[in-house]
Amino acid sequence: MGRRTRVRFAPSPTGPLHMGGVRTALYNYLYAKQKGGDFIIRIEDTDSHRFVPGAEEYIIEALRWCGIIPDEGVDENGKVVETASARHPHAPYRQSQRRGIYRSYAEQLIANGYAYYAFDSAEELEKVRGEAEAKGETFIYNQTTRKTLRNSLTLPEEETKRLLEETTDWTVRFKMPENLVVKMDDLIRGHIEVNTDTLDDKVLWKRADELPTYHLANIVDDHLMEITEVIRGEEWLPSLPLHYMLYKAFGWEDTMPRFAHLSLLLKPVGNGKLSKRDGDKMGFPVFPLRWTNAEGETSHGYREDGYFPEAFVNLLAMLGWNPGNDQEMFSMEELIKAFSLDHIVKSGAKFNPEKAKWYNKEYLRLKSDEELTDLFIPILKEHGIIVTNGSGARADFKKKEFTYDYVKTIVSLIKVRATFVSEFWDIASYLFVAPSSFEEKDTAKFWKEENYTLAYKVADFISSFDGEFTKENLEGPLEEFIRGNEWPMGKVMNCLRLALVGASSGLGIADIVTLIGKEEFASRMEYIGKTLGK
Ligand code: GLU
Repeated sequence: MGRRTRVRFAPSPTGPLHMGGVRTALYNYLYAKQKGGDFIIRIEDTDSHRFVPGAEEYIIEALRWCGIIPDEGVDENGKVVETASARHPHAPYRQSQRRGIYRSYAEQLIANGYAYYAFDSAEELEKVRGEAEAKGETFIYNQTTRKTLRNSLTLPEEETKRLLEETTDWTVRFKMPENLVVKMDDLIRGHIEVNTDTLDDKVLWKRADELPTYHLANIVDDHLMEITEVIRGEEWLPSLPLHYMLYKAFGWEDTMPRFAHLSLLLKPVGNGKLSKRDGDKMGFPVFPLRWTNAEGETSHGYREDGYFPEAFVNLLAMLGWNPGNDQEMFSMEELIKAFSLDHIVKSGAKFNPEKAKWYNKEYLRLKSDEELTDLFIPILKEHGIIVTNGSGARADFKKKEFTYDYVKTIVSLIKVRATFVSEFWDIASYLFVAPSSFEEKDTAKFWKEENYTLAYKVADFISSFDGEFTKENLEGPLEEFIRGNEWPMGKVMNCLRLALVGASSGLGIADIVTLIGKEEFASRMEYIGKTLGK
């Protein structure tokens, strides 16, 4: 029987999670859920210099907002788990709290000849680096240079012992073998071969802070946490040979995870990686949630910019993966069913901010009128509008009081016109507050005597309409009335729209007047006449 699928998202809390990072987490999640396996979160915080307060909480909140809920590593309250339990057997899931685990693994590698102690101080290394640069070369700590440096391979055993006991700024380095071809397989990129002569002796463990580096902690934890597939960004591909070598050195080849390296998200125009700067320049977010850094600079977030999490998840899923057909709309459930590493594209995926908006518009249309009304009400409140529970679609313009049903009816009419709920107010404010001024261009074009005298006659027709005052009842007779008189439909309607909306835009006249009611209609006709003359 095969092993239970276990994948992990292993962010370093060095800042807000870029949307590319969310995509990596999403693909891991989809992969795990499809296979009925586990999705684990592990915080890789062993590089204390790069630690950013608040970043861990940000990452977890961003994933929760997207509906990417881990099975292990983070509890129901969004806290990284520190104490082991049946549900979270590998706690703690924060590497800085696992520091006791790694040293013995580093020592195991030394004992078996796969690693060595390096005593070179930062200054010494700086010096050799400078000398190499002076000769136009780049220094790397590798199989050649290690022979001339201060480490347990070059120093007498006694001296090594003494330095280990008496000094504290030594490290453990991996002893990269000479001229060996590492043969690797990547689930996305296929077979890869790299000669070890091109690789350096990476630091695995540091005595100074008694902490492992990324490479050691990552391999040890993936092993202990029984990870079956590592799905991560392609920036980690250069580390893959070392990771293969480490699995071999530990004797863990049989349970080594399979690897899949995802291509980068690319900027909308030009070449290169999608960066925060592209977002700032073109006005789209690159982070899931708003983020304020230590200097007080705030970056946009998809959530705060009014994107629905479903839209964000859908667009991320489609950036670098396709279902093999032309379906574009996927719920999380559908993604879980359809996802496959076989349909991941090897080349980078160009991000298109217009497509992101398209997704939001589509999801907005799919939302129920109730859900959108609930999202619109706080915005109405900000504009001094009171929404009451009274039944029926009723409006009191003087008191600025409107029933929930009134708001809902408006939402049902305008939702096809909006990309974001935040646009509702601009689209529909005239249905809550009478216009106090009139668009100049439209006024010049339509508010002419030959038009508005007819408009006032139409207004009389509307005001004296004696059937039930609904759009369905009014619309037909209203049109017949204008046509029957052979009046210019567009001009007359635009005069009315000017009075009702303040511009020649907005919903149909029958919609507007039946919503706001005869009294408000009359008051707006009177106001425009007084203001623009009639
Ligand atoms: N901590 C690494 C990161 O921040 C994880 C890389 C990996 O998944 O192996 O991306």
